[in-house]
Amino acid sequence: MPYDEALERFDPVLGLETHVELGTASKMFCGCPTEFGAAPNTQVCPVCLALPGSLPVANAEAIESTIRIGLALNCSIAEWCRFARKNYFYPDMPKNYQISQYDEPLCTDGYLDVVVDGRTVRIEIERVHLEEDTGKSTHVGGATGRIHGADYSIVDYNRAGIPLVEIVTKPIAGTDAMAPEVARAYATELREVMRSLGVSDVRMEEGSMRCDVNVSLMPRGSAEWGTRTETKNVNSLRSVERAVRGEIERQAAILADGGRIIQETRHFHEDTGRTTSGRSKEEAQDYRYFPEPDLLPIAPDRDWVASLKAALPELPSVRRARLKQEWGVSDLDMEAMHNADAIDLVEATVAAGAPAADARKWWMGELARRANEAGTALAELPITPGDVARVTELVASGALNDKLARQVLEGVLAGEGTPDDVVEKRGLQIVNDEGELSAIIDKVLADNSDAADKVRSGKVAAVGALVGGVMKASRGKADAARARELILEKLGVS
Ligand SMILES: [Zn+2]
Repeated sequence: MPYDEALERFDPVLGLETHVELGTASKMFCGCPTEFGAAPNTQVCPVCLALPGSLPVANAEAIESTIRIGLALNCSIAEWCRFARKNYFYPDMPKNYQISQYDEPLCTDGYLDVVVDGRTVRIEIERVHLEEDTGKSTHVGGATGRIHGADYSIVDYNRAGIPLVEIVTKPIAGTDAMAPEVARAYATELREVMRSLGVSDVRMEEGSMRCDVNVSLMPRGSAEWGTRTETKNVNSLRSVERAVRGEIERQAAILADGGRIIQETRHFHEDTGRTTSGRSKEEAQDYRYFPEPDLLPIAPDRDWVASLKAALPELPSVRRARLKQEWGVSDLDMEAMHNADAIDLVEATVAAGAPAADARKWWMGELARRANEAGTALAELPITPGDVARVTELVASGALNDKLARQVLEGVLAGEGTPDDVVEKRGLQIVNDEGELSAIIDKVLADNSDAADKVRSGKVAAVGALVGGVMKASRGKADAARARELILEKLGVS
């Protein structure tokens, strides 16, 4: 069903569960290293392989990081809580249970505010808890890469036991047509909070941040919640938005046809923007949770929690409010920069000496256009904030005009070196030599005597065509303002 029609008939309710791998040097319950990309099964030991007789010891830094995340998300921090065993059987989990938290999470009842289209939406956080990651299975031989149809499966336990924080929202209702953007804005803001805390590299493409997206629909005017589906492990911000949109359209079509939504997990497909059915959740799985007997309870000292709170860094929303003031931009400009992931780049360009307005103009204009054309993120463009600052400086000094500056940026992006290298190699310096400029103007006046006569007779507006001729003849390198002055002077109208 088309999205607009779906929204006329139904009211979407979202829920987001986000897993964030912490960037601790060692794993959650053993001393194994956590670097990404090592050869399979080289970062393992008896504890994370669950060999008989091995015992876990909790990673203090992981607990501290989780408390800091909870504080940044305005949560209450438990005075006393425990780990729990979540029992299920899958080859990527060597213990046959996962050490997680159940009814006693470390952090509860917080919120995170996000801004969409100038409107602030408060996303309530139900809980933030700490657990261990599983290993990684690879299913070989099937068409889908999933276990069904595979010839055999192999497993890498390097990831097993890496500390994982799970952040669960309360149901998010009342966002209407904005639901997909709200989901994306939440994931974006959460990623920035994690970055500002320095607790994770939050690389979605490497799986260090993964979102599960719950969607259900209520018929308009109904107070009864619909059945929800859970789309697992969505691994980019854009995909979070597309997964919500795709699920709304899919569920609306089924409900409008008199069908019912099956409670299940679903998989998101990047290529189509659609989800397909995974495991049915109609029969609730019994994980037989019980308190983990091999670990001590966690009872964070109140003074320690207070000192962690006092030492939190400036959070992204606070930073944006400050930069908005410093840069003198509107809420919508700020939101646009935020959505384009341009704030860090603009800030670094300003730090390198550029005026904020110029830094914003280049990153949000020419460079955003080029990133868009190349299908890449702004930050991935092969140009530094220092380069952009240098270009603004060259424009300010009169050595370049905007048109030449765009060519300089193009050269830097093409790997031709620094802005100064490109100016030099491509000969892009503005024509400052009055003699050279004067010669070009004389030729243009001779070739355009009609326009020249008009200007002489007082129709000064006709000078535009002549300036255009000079710019063309100089291949954009003339100083347009100076050319205009000289033309008027030569025609005796100045
Ligand atoms: Zn280990």
